[in-house]
Amino acid sequence: MADHFEEIEKLGGVDLQFITHGHDLNPAFHAEAYDRFRCKLCYHKAAAAVVRKKTQCPAQEFGHDGLQLGADFEAIYFPGHTPGHSVYRWRRSGTRFLFTGHVMIFDGGRWKLNYNPTKAPKGTQFDHLAEAEHFLPTHAYGTEEFHTLNKRTRALFLEAVKQAWDAPKPSDRDVF
Ligand SMILES: [Zn+2]
Repeated sequence: MADHFEEIEKLGGVDLQFITHGHDLNPAFHAEAYDRFRCKLCYHKAAAAVVRKKTQCPAQEFGHDGLQLGADFEAIYFPGHTPGHSVYRWRRSGTRFLFTGHVMIFDGGRWKLNYNPTKAPKGTQFDHLAEAEHFLPTHAYGTEEFHTLNKRTRALFLEAVKQAWDAPKPSDRDVF
């Protein structure tokens, strides 16, 4: 990414660097980005304890309600893997990208969702997360760098989300 700093500068620089949770944060890279762009780190406030151990750079935090930036970018709290884990959805020219951190992996024909829906505020729905064309994890697991949803994998995703309500702990799930 640092190789692209010059291009990014031409495009107007960076105001915020988003991380889904503390594991996403590479402190050396952030320091480099901060030196160049003065970008704040942006994450769920429940991730602060881990993040603040890695960097003292200025931050912008959000809560369970997530964050909406303009009409095309939002942060969505998706709890379970770590306190405050969140995902980000970005829309560009009608295509929606969901940045899934460490919590949504499509591998071996099934979804592994590392989340616990009961940690979210009562009544929270997660079905709308399937409203995306591409899921991009922080690290590739299995065979895919990222996953492009199709009719079948979108339906499987909705099923996995539903089943998580019956077995909130990922380790208790047989299928997903
Ligand atoms: Zn993680």
